[in-house]
Amino acid sequence: MNSVPIKAGMLGGTFDPIHHGHLRSALEVREALGLDQLHMIPAPKPPLRGAPQVSAEQRMALLQAGIGTTPGLYADSRELRREGPSYSVDTLAELRAEYGEQARLVMVIGFDAFLRLPQWQQVDTLFSLAHLVVMARPGYQASWSDELRELVGQREVEGVDALMQRPNGGVLLLSLPSMMAISATYIRQRLREGKSVRYLLPEAVEEAILHKGFYQDVE
Ligand code: ATP
Repeated sequence: MNSVPIKAGMLGGTFDPIHHGHLRSALEVREALGLDQLHMIPAPKPPLRGAPQVSAEQRMALLQAGIGTTPGLYADSRELRREGPSYSVDTLAELRAEYGEQARLVMVIGFDAFLRLPQWQQVDTLFSLAHLVVMARPGYQASWSDELRELVGQREVEGVDALMQRPNGGVLLLSLPSMMAISATYIRQRLREGKSVRYLLPEAVEEAILHKGFYQDVE
């Protein structure tokens, strides 16, 4: 059988709310890696962060509105249906089972999330399931800790072709063409202060946020 293996990715996050930094990065990473499908997966209660202010279902609805009909990006609610804490390795195991052994499976994270990799559960399991692709992010240039260096070890590859030779286990640092210095923290802060968030996120997401009053009346 000579069929080309399917290429799929996951981009997890709180998406609290989804913004153009996430969406443009998702589109460009999908293009750069030639992914058939990129699953954007909101976390219900991220293990490493405090509780978000808007419910998981509401964040999911904003994500769907933000993606709209963009080809290849998929708002995936699987982590919201899971009982108990949600770990990326569990999600990757599900995706691996769905796509099969030969699929090229990629977990995509921003550089800030990558710096926290030593705190993650079961990093070895992660590499047995997927590749890790790290997107540069404006404002995050910290040097790697010794622990992080050790975790990555010999896994780092130079480019997409080298990464896609194997189904899992590689690390690629990727600098995408349009990096955007947008964060959800900045958007929430502006909404709290009653300031405009126009052009930081898709219009449909802005409209839904303003209509529902999300992020606007918290102390
Ligand atoms: P917050 O400001 O609330 O921490 P955030 O904007 O960083 O949120 P997350 O939901 O934490 O968004 O991000 C999900 C993933 O997307 C993470 O891997 C993060 O590094 C990445 N990411 C977020 N914003 C950008 C951006 N502007 N450019 C590239 N990657 C980003």
